[in-house]
Amino acid sequence: MERILKLWRRGLAVLFAAWLFAEPACLVHAAESYQMVCDGDWSLLNNADMQAQMQYVFSQVYPRLVVRWGRQDERRQEKVRVQIVLQAVVGEKIVGGYTPQEQGSRERYIVIGAEDNNRRQDRLAVLVHELGHVVECYDDFWSDWWTESLAEYSVWRYFNWTEPQFMTMNDNGNLFNVDLLDPGWKDWGWAAYGRSELFFTYMDSRYPTTVDASGKRIYGLIDAIHFSIQEGKIQNDKMDNPQFNAIVKKITGLDNMEQLRQQFVSELETGSWKFNGFAGYSDNVITENLPGVKNPSYPSQSFAGNLCNGAIIYRCSGASSEHSIAEFLVDNDLDTKWSAAAADANRQDEWLGKDLQHYVVLDLGNEVELDAYAIYHAGIKEDSSLNTVKWNVLYWDSAAQEWMTIDMGYVNKANADITTRVFAPIRTQFLFFGFVDSDWTGSGNVNIYEIVCINTKHMG
Ligand SMILES: [Zn+2]
Repeated sequence: MERILKLWRRGLAVLFAAWLFAEPACLVHAAESYQMVCDGDWSLLNNADMQAQMQYVFSQVYPRLVVRWGRQDERRQEKVRVQIVLQAVVGEKIVGGYTPQEQGSRERYIVIGAEDNNRRQDRLAVLVHELGHVVECYDDFWSDWWTESLAEYSVWRYFNWTEPQFMTMNDNGNLFNVDLLDPGWKDWGWAAYGRSELFFTYMDSRYPTTVDASGKRIYGLIDAIHFSIQEGKIQNDKMDNPQFNAIVKKITGLDNMEQLRQQFVSELETGSWKFNGFAGYSDNVITENLPGVKNPSYPSQSFAGNLCNGAIIYRCSGASSEHSIAEFLVDNDLDTKWSAAAADANRQDEWLGKDLQHYVVLDLGNEVELDAYAIYHAGIKEDSSLNTVKWNVLYWDSAAQEWMTIDMGYVNKANADITTRVFAPIRTQFLFFGFVDSDWTGSGNVNIYEIVCINTKHMG
């Protein structure tokens, strides 16, 4: 049963402005064994780039979904037809998309409604959600909650939380982060479009699928249930279904899913279980190192407010060693720092032609609104003579297609160990920090522990 994909709470657009600087990777890295066949009228989509974006997302996400949850039999699910129509209608209802069976076959294809998709802020998530249904491929299963929840978890796990730029943003303009204390995660009413993603995350965390030395998978909770449904061994997800509960009992020792949900709630409340991204999950081995698919960077939870957390280092002037890379500027960890000596800077680099000793360009993953930045200089841990002295801060204005100034030649006159600067709000994805004098000794070495940017209007 297909219905409208729920709108992301407070979601804003997932932007792909990183493509400003790189040719679309779909042309180069598409996984060869899987094919998205474009059908219907793609000109109905009002963003001319949407087809390339969907092809790219398909090439990266669909192989992960197939290898994790795809049919284990002869049905190979290699090609997926995606049909764009003006309105996707199920029954009498206009939906974002749906996944019917191909005529004369049990394979699924995807129908996406252009009118709905053109209005959405999570346009690509619609495709991924439906790909989740293609891979589920349940034939005779009546679902109140499982089928839609697993499709939503497909979006969450194998799209949103794989790369910062695939995350939605919340109403602070922040990258998506999960308030583990939000009661909405705890009791989503076993509804088809409830906020079940964190519960599914919990299942994969506490009862994971593992892979033994011979490469054989030992199913955890989600996979044991999923493959039993796919094989026709479970007919519904009612809380008193004995086939369903037998699996829950075998793997968790609990009598049913409701008991497991209560355990999840208890662990959330006591803090004994936390979500901080999917790095380190034991089943990652299944979805990594797939041909033509980039391994996820597994972004971690951002601290509320820091828009630079997890930013990509678009370019920088170098680093002294692998232990002092510029990524440490944006890891929300004041114990790590970016360090680069004068000799580490590549003097051929055009960015250093502007009287800079060092520089770093941050890609925030999405266009966000911000009105303040902070630099945590060396003095927070070391001698204050190593503090940065004079710098420029620019941001990329995507409408004007040029760098605009936030600070030019700003001088840390008081030699503060932390500098905070507040300015009129701007919107950008890219920040350029150029260091004119990178310490007081004149060595040309730069040592900075963290760069933070925030939107002060949204700070508690
Ligand atoms: Zn669905």
